[in-house]
Amino acid sequence: MSQITCTRCERTDEQLPALPLPTDLGARIYDGVCRTCWQDWLKEQTALINHHGLNLLDSSAKQFLTQKTEEFFFGENPD
Ligand SMILES: [Zn+2]
Repeated sequence: MSQITCTRCERTDEQLPALPLPTDLGARIYDGVCRTCWQDWLKEQTALINHHGLNLLDSSAKQFLTQKTEEFFFGENPD
C-alpha cells in the first residue's frame, strides 16, 4: 500500500488505489491527495450536486465540478 504526503491535509496517508479521474487533474490528485481527503471531496461533491441540481451529463455541470474539485484540493489561484 503506497503512502503519500497529502498536499491538502499535510498528513502521510494512503494513496488512492487508482487515478480518480482520467484527466491531468486526476493525475495531480493521485500524486498529491490522500484517500481520506478524496473521501471528503466525494461527500462535498454529492452535496454540491444536490444543492445545485447538477446533471452530470451536462458539460457545463462537469466543468463546474472540475473547477470545484481543483479549488477543494489545490486552493484558489496562487497568484
Ligand atoms: Zn489528505
